[in-house]
Amino acid sequence: MYMVSGFLAFWAKIGILFNMVIRMRHTRAHTGNRRSHHALKAKTFAVCANCAQPKETHVVCKNCGFYRGRKVVDVVNKVEKKQAKKKSGK
Ligand SMILES: [Zn+2]
Repeated sequence: MYMVSGFLAFWAKIGILFNMVIRMRHTRAHTGNRRSHHALKAKTFAVCANCAQPKETHVVCKNCGFYRGRKVVDVVNKVEKKQAKKKSGK
């Protein structure tokens, strides 16, 4: 237990009796205007030129690791490494 000074106790009582005023409140229009930019957009997909699987545009193909006709990521090696890591982790 601790003693609350008279001044603080007074303001605590006021806070209980009258709810605190929200000073920085926005109008509904203000809130709506801000949230008008919050909608999510659907991702666009293209067909991979190498493996004909759907892939994200401007991103390396997750299926074959090709980008613009060039092999960028060794997918098989990556999967093997991951599995080896999983095994050694146990
Ligand atoms: Zn591909």
